[in-house]
Amino acid sequence: MALDFAGQVIDDGHVALEWAPHAGKFKTYWLLAMRTGAKPGFTTLELDGNTYGYRFANLGRHQRYRFAVLAARDGAQVCSPWLSATPRAGSTLAREDAGVTEHLAKLKSLVAMPQDKRITLYWMLGPGFVDRVSVEIRRGIAVLGTYELEPEVKGFTIDPERCRGLLNGTAYTVTARAKFALAESESRSLTVTPAPQGQERDANRNNPQLPLVYPCLSLAPELDVFGDAKEEPSTVQIVCGRCRGRTEWRDYNLRCRACNAEFIANQRGDYLDVTKLRFGTCRCCLPRKLLVQDVGSTSLRCVHSGKEHIRAAGLSTFMLIEDLPHGLCQCCRPRRPLERKADDTIRCSKSNELHNQGERGGFGLVPSAPVFDAAAIDELLDAGLADICANGVSRGRR
Ligand SMILES: [Zn+2]
Ligand SMILES: [Zn+2]
Ligand SMILES: [Zn+2]
Repeated sequence: MALDFAGQVIDDGHVALEWAPHAGKFKTYWLLAMRTGAKPGFTTLELDGNTYGYRFANLGRHQRYRFAVLAARDGAQVCSPWLSATPRAGSTLAREDAGVTEHLAKLKSLVAMPQDKRITLYWMLGPGFVDRVSVEIRRGIAVLGTYELEPEVKGFTIDPERCRGLLNGTAYTVTARAKFALAESESRSLTVTPAPQGQERDANRNNPQLPLVYPCLSLAPELDVFGDAKEEPSTVQIVCGRCRGRTEWRDYNLRCRACNAEFIANQRGDYLDVTKLRFGTCRCCLPRKLLVQDVGSTSLRCVHSGKEHIRAAGLSTFMLIEDLPHGLCQCCRPRRPLERKADDTIRCSKSNELHNQGERGGFGLVPSAPVFDAAAIDELLDAGLADICANGVSRGRR
């Protein structure tokens, strides 16, 4: 079965698409848009199953775009033919025969950092359609946990909170893959052994080293490469800024041994008193890193990982995308957190657009005005501030 799909170029840069209504048959439609050319761009909107049309506004008039719509039911995926056009007034959409499979994003790399009862993963996604990244942790053949993450998430920490019984000294196999609708890409795997501070390299000696990175602590214990340092190093590199006491790394935190004040390094190698930081420290890295707010922006990010830290309403703490209870919206680019409102509906925290539970447990947009305005995206692109990437537009090159 194929989905009926039609569209027209209604004006310069404006394309209206519609598909035959199948009332109640599908919970979710995925509308796919691809910008062809030297640097292809991909974006996808997960729409509620009662939406049968959508418009793209302000597309570039000199680019060729391709569109398709996809639905899923009972584990089977149904795709429309692709329609392609350069959206200039008077032009028409051409039908193309192609599938979706060849345009799925793949993980280009997967790297892990072993720490004390903690595994931090980092990955890079190649271009293509993706609506989540799936991570699985195993001990031998026993699956201990699987995590489905938004494609905006580029790093993820597995600790005892997320995986009960995560132990030091045990080798774990971690597998990650990109997924889109019901399809998934080939996976990447690595083996990693968590270990206490200072023992990470020893514990991972028998694991392939290529996908592993180790925490960097810039004080004597880590710099003692020849292993002949005396019990008590005679020179203290960093003294406490409050009491002039000695500092040491303990559980990846640099603390004063006398007054327990905590310090973090900035990129220039200065050490900053954590209590004096305007936004505090990040939640993503160990050792903790500085949180900064970019000029003209209200969002905070970790200077090291680049991960966005979202201010949680009514709380003094921050959330990472992977901690959001309902994930990110389908209406905005960059996508914004979804919130549960007082009337129990799930809405975008920026546009207030309604989202309903979709086919795979995620949330699909119920558009009040079915228009996707690409102008914001093109402005960002023109300013060199954004990259159209696997899952739409990411702000800023980091
Ligand atoms: Zn002190
Ligand atoms: Zn961080
Ligand atoms: Zn939104």
